Amino acid sequence: MSERLVVIGGDAAGMSAASQARRLKKPEELEIVAFERGTFTSFSACGIPYWVGGDVEERDDLIARTPEAHRERAIDVRMRTEVVEIDARQRRVRSRDLASGTEEWTTYDKLVIATGARPVRPDLPGIDAPGVHGVQTLDDGQALIDTLTKTKGRRAVVIGAGYIGVEMAEALLHRGYEVTVVNRGQEPMSTLDPDMGRLVHEAMTGMGITMVNDAEVTKILTGDDGRARAVATDDREFPADVVVLGIGVRPETALARDAGLPLGEHGGLLTDLGMRVRGPVADGAIWAGGDCVEVLNLVSGREQHIALGTHANKHGQVIGSNVGGGYATFPGVVGTAVSKVCDLEIARTGLREKDARAAGLQYVAVTIESTSRAGYYPGAALMTVKMLAERRTGRLLGTQIVGREGAGKRVDVAAVALTARMTVEQMTALDLGYAPPFSPVWDPVLVAARKAVTAVRSGGA
Ligand SMILES: Cc1cc2nc3c(=O)[nH]c(=O)nc-3n(C[C@H](O)[C@H](O)[C@H](O)COP(=O)(O)OP(=O)(O)OC[C@H]3O[C@@H](n4cnc5c(N)ncnc54)[C@H](O)[C@@H]3O)c2cc1C
Repeated sequence: MSERLVVIGGDAAGMSAASQARRLKKPEELEIVAFERGTFTSFSACGIPYWVGGDVEERDDLIARTPEAHRERAIDVRMRTEVVEIDARQRRVRSRDLASGTEEWTTYDKLVIATGARPVRPDLPGIDAPGVHGVQTLDDGQALIDTLTKTKGRRAVVIGAGYIGVEMAEALLHRGYEVTVVNRGQEPMSTLDPDMGRLVHEAMTGMGITMVNDAEVTKILTGDDGRARAVATDDREFPADVVVLGIGVRPETALARDAGLPLGEHGGLLTDLGMRVRGPVADGAIWAGGDCVEVLNLVSGREQHIALGTHANKHGQVIGSNVGGGYATFPGVVGTAVSKVCDLEIARTGLREKDARAAGLQYVAVTIESTSRAGYYPGAALMTVKMLAERRTGRLLGTQIVGREGAGKRVDVAAVALTARMTVEQMTALDLGYAPPFSPVWDPVLVAARKAVTAVRSGGA
């Protein structure tokens, strides 16, 4: 007898789950219905900064699979249709067609919640004025591009200096804007320790971007035409023809909460290792993945909310395997992320100093400077690597890298070492590739590991 799988959310996690389930089960074995309240499926929000900045020409380049392509694979995608209620007891969802307002119930045997995350949009005066843009969806990206194309202005303010904020600063710079980044934190990129964030601050300043730290935005000032004209903090005003919000996201879990499903301390759904939602209400029939769940940090042992497409795709794959009758698990993350502003690459994995302290870990922290290639080889560029290791055991706890070309993806070596629970001493013996165009004879990550070994041996600073 055929079962029905219902998926809520038509992007990375949801459609990866649906596609993987379809690979494993024929349409006569498993009917798949996916609800998406937006206008696109399987799109790359990650590419929006590069589309806005002009590196990617066409919006459609960011779409991996359209609703029609999913339908051809027997996935019944219902666009512009929002799920407004989950009735877990009767295993059904209530959906609303956003054009007609018509509502209906759809029963499920298995349900996947992949509702993603909601951008933080503080309730400030002027926040909804024309000229103020989020960058969460392709529609948001298009609206921003329309504003940039149609208005004659040349000044842009980005609120927030996380990775989306700094990537948008680059995009606006590429479009010829004078860019100011207003940031509540001590330094940009709060996913780094402040000493590494300072390097990002200095590099961005060097690119001609005005960086404002420790600043709380109080309102968006509007002109006579009602459009945004400046961003105000307690004591200053920053003129703006366009304002971009990059203040972070929260798990989109109101539906799940109202259904009585378990949420963690960061507001994300709680699942087991197979991405099945925990607890009696889910009754073993509900899975969740992507930006709406919390994940286990394998280094700290704590649950965290990390909104990244890399996890969402993997979650979807795991869920699809499990609902399709296979077996897969998602063991957790080590907290790896990479981004860039113009030619500055920024990477991190594992714990920052404050994470290590919060987890009750004692650690040593070292910082080194090295180059991306042999010093004598053309194009060798400086990079800074910071490494944390556990005191006494020498276990690697985290790595942060800021530098030019070739810096960012070096963090993957540290991510693998963290996953394998290697010590910094073991890392020093890693057989990494070497030739002058690719690295100095001691790769910068190994130089940092060697310095960390010395610090661990001396008992920690
Ligand atoms: C500008 C930007 C740059 C990024 N860059 C990177 C990057 O470089 N690397 C990286 O790893 N990640 C990046 N990300 C994050 C990445 O895009 C997300 O982590 C990923 O999209 C999460 O996928 P998801 O399927 O969990 O959620 P989403 O992509 O948010 O999809 C959830 C979908 O569910 C739909 N939905 C929600 N509620 C309902 C409902 N009740 N009924 C019907 N539909 C519903 C939404 O409309 C949405 O389409 C970036 C994000 C942004 C915004």
